[in-house]
Amino acid sequence: MAKKGILLVISGFSGAGKGTVVNRLREKYDEYALSISMTSRAPRPGDVEGVNYFFVTREKFEKTIAENGLLEYAEYCGNYYGTPRAFVEEQLNAGKNVILEIEIQGATNIKKAFPESLLIFLTPPSASELEKRLKGRGTETEEVIRKRLKRAAEESAGMDSYDFIIVNDDLEECVEEVHRTIELAHNQPLRCADFVADIKEQLKKYN
Ligand code: ADP
Ligand code: 5GP
Repeated sequence: MAKKGILLVISGFSGAGKGTVVNRLREKYDEYALSISMTSRAPRPGDVEGVNYFFVTREKFEKTIAENGLLEYAEYCGNYYGTPRAFVEEQLNAGKNVILEIEIQGATNIKKAFPESLLIFLTPPSASELEKRLKGRGTETEEVIRKRLKRAAEESAGMDSYDFIIVNDDLEECVEEVHRTIELAHNQPLRCADFVADIKEQLKKYN
């Protein structure tokens, strides 16, 4: 059966481990492509242009919105974040599962525009573990960490609208669970419609 790429949204509280899980998933399996978002936020130490994000001004971001260059976008903690359209379309056509690592508003917009997309919400095993990971990452000030924890409390209200909740406790187990989920999703009827139509046709002769 030919596999068509899945448009895969991975969301989760800031500090849940999305970046870590996605990197490991791409190291282990080559059928994933990661969409690099455009953002108006300032680079953090260690952020690399074109690897973590395309960093642009608010003006450039707004120009890209006007040109319909984004599949979706949202404002998060005062900055714009959005998914460049062209890369996603190219990679899906090439049969790759395309990962969008985006927050909940963007995920909701993607599901509306692409009902066949798969929405995974990644969460640490507890709130205290989330706080520990955010502090341990050491990339934000205390004030930004407080803002992100507050946002996590708000975001938790939207967890119910995802297709799957996956707990990132042991990293390797989590990566395998994400991969298995996507493998299984390839077997949903809407994703193997050609195969289903074909075997129905073959069976007609017994009718
Ligand atoms: P996000 O992309 O969701 O904001 P990161 O991938 O940056 O989160 O992870 C936040 C911090 O938690 C990092 O310091 C990372 O090394 C750590 N981390 C990620 N996954 C795990 C895990 N399964 N167990 C312990 N620490 C983890
Ligand atoms: P950070 O500043 O920690 O890199 O990202 C903040 C939030 O923005 C995260 O929840 C991240 O998933 C989300 N985000 C990153 N890129 C995009 C995007 O292209 N669109 C949307 N809607 N959210 C994004």
